[in-house]
Amino acid sequence: MNKKHKQLVKENIRVSFWGVRGTLPVPGQKTVRYGGNTSCVSIEFPKDNFFIFDAGTGIKELSNYLMSEKHKSTKAMIFISHPHWDHINGLPFFAPVYTKGNELEICGPPNGGMSMGELIAGQMDGVYFPINIKEFSATVSFHNLGEERFAIDTINIQTMFLNHPGQCLGYRLNYGGRSICYVTDNEMYPESNRLYNENYVNKLADFVADTDVLITDCTYTDEEYEAKIGWGHSSVNQVVELADRAKVKKLYLFHHDPDQTDDDIDGKLKMAQALLEKRGSSTICIAPKEGESFDV
Ligand SMILES: [Zn+2]
Ligand SMILES: [Zn+2]
Repeated sequence: MNKKHKQLVKENIRVSFWGVRGTLPVPGQKTVRYGGNTSCVSIEFPKDNFFIFDAGTGIKELSNYLMSEKHKSTKAMIFISHPHWDHINGLPFFAPVYTKGNELEICGPPNGGMSMGELIAGQMDGVYFPINIKEFSATVSFHNLGEERFAIDTINIQTMFLNHPGQCLGYRLNYGGRSICYVTDNEMYPESNRLYNENYVNKLADFVADTDVLITDCTYTDEEYEAKIGWGHSSVNQVVELADRAKVKKLYLFHHDPDQTDDDIDGKLKMAQALLEKRGSSTICIAPKEGESFDV
């Protein structure tokens, strides 16, 4: 390997999917290919910055990976989109929080008058879970986030409130000329709907504009969405329209409905690809599977 190649490899950002499902974990025969765990994505930057997005049940697999031989200690930022179960209920099973020497910072929006710390502690209050957050042996800190811009080392982070019940944040990361957006859970009403908000759609399109990677809520097919308007999730058509309009390079379909089988997700991917082709779009659409990684 020559020096230049070595540098390129070192500069890669690695994105890994640990859970791609939404709402409820769905183990079983019909979900073996895409996996049955709920939302969790990790992003590893050069120079050891390790970010985790959401702590659904997929974070258990990430926990196993981090507790393996290769990762003796963990220093990570955990960004929570919002505190619905499918985005936080894997956290008590994230072993690095119980290991002395690890450093974890958990960030996300307050909800229902509760801070991020209170929300995480609330699901571990001894009634809903037997172990209290006082048992965390790692150094764990909590940080409330709103709509803002900030930087961690040379990684620039931007957040945006999404259209979802309660306070839910989408994240955009810019690093070394590349960008990754994590936008779930989010509802985009079709233009024909009375709740359609042009300003919101424009703001979201700006937020994800020209990004290399958009990981986003694509819970429903267009047919399914008809009966689920106002539930806070998007359908294939709306997601494709946003990605194409914003000139997203790669669109990753995420947060699938628990009633959808692997074959149904294949179907959503085909629908999205056909719609992009019809629009003459240059956006590439992918349905990532649990356990998959790629470099940006
Ligand atoms: Zn969700
Ligand atoms: Zn939600």
